[in-house]
Amino acid sequence: MNVTNRTFTMIKPDATSAGHTGAILDKIIKAGFRIVAMKYTRLTPEEAGRFYAIHRERPFYNDLIKYMSSGNIVAAILEKDNAVDDFRKLIGATDPAKAEPGTIRNLFAKSIDANAVHGSDSNENAAIEGAFFFSALEMH
Ligand code: UDP
Ligand code: MG
Repeated sequence: MNVTNRTFTMIKPDATSAGHTGAILDKIIKAGFRIVAMKYTRLTPEEAGRFYAIHRERPFYNDLIKYMSSGNIVAAILEKDNAVDDFRKLIGATDPAKAEPGTIRNLFAKSIDANAVHGSDSNENAAIEGAFFFSALEMH
């Protein structure tokens, strides 16, 4: 399948520590995404800073790095037709208070910062973010 049909996700520390990992993966799989690669790990502050470098100038950057390195995450590459847009729909708005009912953030997120999951915002960023965690040999 063409790489533009892939997206990248992380289940964030608030969701893994609250025990939502299985329920979130279940929703992702039932929505028709195939797991291409998956890793249970933890980011150092330096790694979280590099991953979110695009947000360096935003006021929440330092808190975001602290939060994203505060516990375990699940990183995964997902595959489906229209993966980037369909996954953004499945997770809902950044602020869970504004996320549609039934979306992953509506169901599982605690707040706008601890919002349960990451989803790439473009095909280009999906490829960059996937390559941050996985080598080409791990992407099947
Ligand atoms: N974030 C935050 N405060 C904000 C906006 C974003 O803490 O006002 C965090 C939140 O964890 C979000 C991440 O920064 O998921 C990246 O922000 P972005 O605007 O890219 O939101 P997303 O693409 O994750 O919906
Ligand atoms: Mg984003």
